[in-house]
Amino acid sequence: MREYLTKEAFSSIIDAIKKGTKIQRHIADQVAVAMKDWAMSKGVTHYTHWFQPLTGATAEKHDSFFTPIEGGRAIERFSGGMLIQQEPDASSFPNGGIRNTFEARGYTAWDPTSPAFIMGTTLCIPSIFISYTGETLDYKAPLLRALHSVDEAATSVMHYFDKNVEKVTPTLGWEQEYFLIDSALHQSRPDLVLTGKTLLGHAPAKGQQLDDHYFGSIPTRVMNFMKELEIECMKLGIPVTTRHNEVAPNQFELAPMFEEVNVAIDHNSLLMDVMGRVANKHHFKVLLHEKPFAGINGSGKHNNWSLATNTGENLLSPGKNPKKNLQFLTFFINTIKAVYEYADLLRASIASANNDHRLGANEAPPAIISVFIGSQLYKVLNELEKVTDGKLSPEEKTELKLNVVGKIPEILLDNTDRNRTSPFAFTGNKFEIRAVGSSANCAEPMTVMNAIMAKQLRDFKVEVDALIEKGLKKDEAIFNVLREYIKQSKNIMFEGDGYSDDWAKEAKKRGLSNLKTTPEALKKEMDKKFVELYEELGIYSHREVEARNEIKLEKYSTTIDIEARVIADIARNHIIPAALNYQNRLIENVKGLKDIFSEKEFKAIAKEQLSLITQISENVSKIKLGVEELLVAKEKAKGTSDSQKQAEAYCFNVKTLFDGIREASDALEMMVDDELWPLTKYREMLFTR
Ligand code: ADP
Ligand code: MG
Repeated sequence: MREYLTKEAFSSIIDAIKKGTKIQRHIADQVAVAMKDWAMSKGVTHYTHWFQPLTGATAEKHDSFFTPIEGGRAIERFSGGMLIQQEPDASSFPNGGIRNTFEARGYTAWDPTSPAFIMGTTLCIPSIFISYTGETLDYKAPLLRALHSVDEAATSVMHYFDKNVEKVTPTLGWEQEYFLIDSALHQSRPDLVLTGKTLLGHAPAKGQQLDDHYFGSIPTRVMNFMKELEIECMKLGIPVTTRHNEVAPNQFELAPMFEEVNVAIDHNSLLMDVMGRVANKHHFKVLLHEKPFAGINGSGKHNNWSLATNTGENLLSPGKNPKKNLQFLTFFINTIKAVYEYADLLRASIASANNDHRLGANEAPPAIISVFIGSQLYKVLNELEKVTDGKLSPEEKTELKLNVVGKIPEILLDNTDRNRTSPFAFTGNKFEIRAVGSSANCAEPMTVMNAIMAKQLRDFKVEVDALIEKGLKKDEAIFNVLREYIKQSKNIMFEGDGYSDDWAKEAKKRGLSNLKTTPEALKKEMDKKFVELYEELGIYSHREVEARNEIKLEKYSTTIDIEARVIADIARNHIIPAALNYQNRLIENVKGLKDIFSEKEFKAIAKEQLSLITQISENVSKIKLGVEELLVAKEKAKGTSDSQKQAEAYCFNVKTLFDGIREASDALEMMVDDELWPLTKYREMLFTR
């Protein structure tokens, strides 16, 4: 930017990024020309507004710089207007009924806070996507609003501690898990190709029991893929730093250095796209599905989240003196309170048909949202809970300073216990949201996280100011409010094993939600309290919340519908014919035995074959009847008009029928001659190197 822009344009852009100031039209023109010159120097011919519609994928529509002029000639042109706005014919993106086709126009608008980048020969301009009538139709626009809200709220709370802070920016470090499967084997499985997961398949004799894959040496072919991927990431400015094997066979993880939330999200969306392209070159297929293989760990995307000031402080990092630690405790306890108040909203933000398979499957956190902070910090909160109501005596202040607040940095140094079973864990200087699915766009949970924190900090400020008004000193007021927050949100804190059944029972006693399925979680999302939160912060209008809820419900139903059709097709076209084929061989064998042996000898010799023939028939019949029942239930669900009820029908009446079909098919997989089995097996897919 320094090289290509005038000083005026450069500082104008920096102001827009840092302070959200407006960019003048003539500056936008300058920026556009500079972008074009920079891009053309790198061989670029086209530009696109790059955006993240609610399909879950990224979208782009390429236009060339090429512009015909008089006299049959042409020049390369890119103006401020073209930079700021594009109008893709976008009537086929999900809109939840917001956009009728007669007003099908959607607009993309430049987001100057995320850097433009080059993919191949195209200049990509990160953008938001809105309807003609101004409703948001993507992940980024509401996210930017949430980031703005939390900046405002956190900056004003920070002024209790440091008047020099002008801006608070949330930070995100995601950790992307994924599977790599040989692309030819992937292609041989219709369920993987069509749904991203295997709907049938017997677990291999060796899975992850030996724990021999986790952090093991990376296979050469995979290493070659990773290296190329990392080079491509670096070219795009994605600061990848970490790579390793994950728990399941052929499962891996990639993580970058954390960045501002907005940029981190663009980078994750970009990464998911680039991964697929690079994998193709190495004859791999990347599986981002949350649960591609039954009985084997699924994939998640931990979201490490914190708040940073423009003065370079991490607000969730304990400081060197009691004052800094009171600041830390303020943001720390407010986060816990926010999660306590809005746990269901956080749960809804990570709900999807795919993620339902993973949550609570003894490998990922349960669907119950709880907060893990470690026993040492828990003790500190217990101490703070005892703070006197109202004014504090000088002795109490000293005690707090020296022995409670003052001890925090030492505590954290040796507080190394990590609880992998918690969906929301404090990890020393950030919170880690572990329930996010691997294929998710992090924008959704990040919009919620920052929105609930903004709301919480706003409320906190009001309460503290009211106590100061009543004559309490600032610190006293803060201690008083924090004490009440600890009392109120105690129920959400849990230090034990989140995978255990005891926790489910205990959580129920505590009144915590256990929203196990997407339809249940999405139903909660429409609670008055949550809709009001969005409206108060100006993140979504009522209509937008409804539309998004509707889109997610529809996506859920469609996903299960497709899975039902695929399982029915494979069962009828692949599994039953293969089973009958093998059964015929057995029948031939039995007939032959009958010809050559006496009746008595035959009975003994053919016993096992006869039993197999019967078992095959039993399983074939289970599959056939199961599929018929499934198709009836599916049609019934499809005909349900209310989206919420429809999703529930798919969840409780359709999806539940998959298991019976799968069981029978997996049993047949163990009986039928390997040579005749039509589907590539788990054992073959998961151990290719
Ligand atoms: P772990 O033991 O979980 O691997 P790390 O310190 O390596 O812990 O951090 C894991 C992730 O957290 C990394 O992606 C890193 O970039 C991110 N991270 C670290 N500090 C912050 C922060 N202040 N805000 C957001 N993410 C962070
Ligand atoms: Mg982690």
